[in-house]
Parts: sequence; C-alpha cells; structure tokens
Amino acid sequence: ELTGADVAAVFHRYAKTVAELKDLLTELDTAVGDGDHGTNLDRGMRAAVEALDAGTPGTPGAVFNLVGRRLVSTVGGASGALYGTAFLRAAGAAGDATGLDASRMAAVLRQATDGIAARGKCAAGDKTMYDVWSAATEAVESAAAGGTGLAAALSAGAVAAAETVRRMVPWQARRGRASYLGERSVGHRDPGAVSSQALFECLAAQAA
Ligand code: ADP
Ligand code: MG
Ligand code: MG
Repeated sequence: ELTGADVAAVFHRYAKTVAELKDLLTELDTAVGDGDHGTNLDRGMRAAVEALDAGTPGTPGAVFNLVGRRLVSTVGGASGALYGTAFLRAAGAAGDATGLDASRMAAVLRQATDGIAARGKCAAGDKTMYDVWSAATEAVESAAAGGTGLAAALSAGAVAAAETVRRMVPWQARRGRASYLGERSVGHRDPGAVSSQALFECLAAQAA
C-alpha cells in the first residue's frame, strides 16, 4: 500500500525528476510546441512540493487534491490543466482511504486518465500525454485484476509508459500545439508523454 506520506514522497521524487528533466522537456517542446513544458511543469511541481512541505495532508486523496490545485493555479499551459485535472480526479477516486493497494491504485489511475481525456478532448493515438496515461493505466489495471501486488503492478505501468513513448515517435500529433505542425510532428517525442513517463517511473520507484 501507498499511504498519504508515500504519495507525498512520490511527488517530492517527481519534482526532483522534473527539475532534472527541465532542459530536455523544454528542448522537446521547442521542436513541436512553444518551448515551455520544462519551465511550466518545474514551476508547478516546485509550488506543489512547497505546499506539501507546509503541512503534508494525511490521506493519499488529500495529497492528490493539494497537488492538483497547486498545478492548476501555478501552471498556465495546457499541461497544468491536464495534470491538475488528473490529480483532482485521482483525489476523488482515492476518497478517504488511508492507503492505496493495487486495485485501488488502478481505480485512481483510471479516473485520472479519464479526466485527461475529458479535459483535453483527446483520444488514444492523438500523440499526447494521454497515450502514456492510458497505456500505463491499462497495464496497472490488468496486473491488479490478475492479483499482482502494488509494486509489480506499478512497475508494469512504468514499463508500458516507456514503451508507449517510443511507439508514439512516428505518429502525427492530433491535439495540442504539436498538432499545428501537421506531418512535421512525426519523428519527435511528445513533451507531455515524456514527463508522464517520468511520473509513472516515480510511482513505481516509490512502491518498489
Ligand atoms: P502548452 O502546450 O500550453 O504550452 P505545455 O507545453 O506545458 O503546454 O504542455 C504540452 C503537452 O501537453 C503536450 O506535449 C501534450 O502531451 C499535452 N497536451 C496539450 N494539449 C493536449 C490535449 N488537448 N489533450 C491531451 N494532452 C495535451
Ligand atoms: Mg508548451
Ligand atoms: Mg505554452
């Protein structure tokens, strides 16, 4: 199980990872967008961690809620609304539970993923962060349904996320700024997909 403190540790880990990936994310977004994904997410996660440090909430749901609200309020870009919506939906699915086991985690990720689709009006194959969330969530769901424990289920999610980022490279973007490039979006990694892969890797690392 991941407790509220564990989920807060996931976000501390993610904030550190985003700071390390900031230049790469900016480079990827310069190629297909407006070059701000690294700074957007870094600013948001710094604010989120600051809020968590000011008094870590008790339950996983309360942690997701705080992080989601901070991202929505500090990140102007599309990714702030999308990650923010994902974590607010995750908070709703986590409810008052004091810990998340594999099946509860699968339900939390499902709600978050569906929230991204609703907010982004996107579908699988559009070449956005949603493809990564969708593939990783499906992997966690099928592991959990098969009775796999949390650590192994999240590890399967991280593997699926990484595979999806690679699989998406030859696709053409159909949502977000990258879609403005038309065929020129082919051959690039999507910035939000890469930052989402990192989140699933942080989740897996925390549960391991
Ligand atoms: P902005 O595009 O507003 O500058 P960011 O650069 O921070 O925002 O984030 C870009 C990422 O957000 C993209 O790489 C993509 O993964 C994701 N994204 C953008 N628009 C959408 C959308 N409509 N649906 C799903 N994901 C999207
Ligand atoms: Mg951008
Ligand atoms: Mg922008």
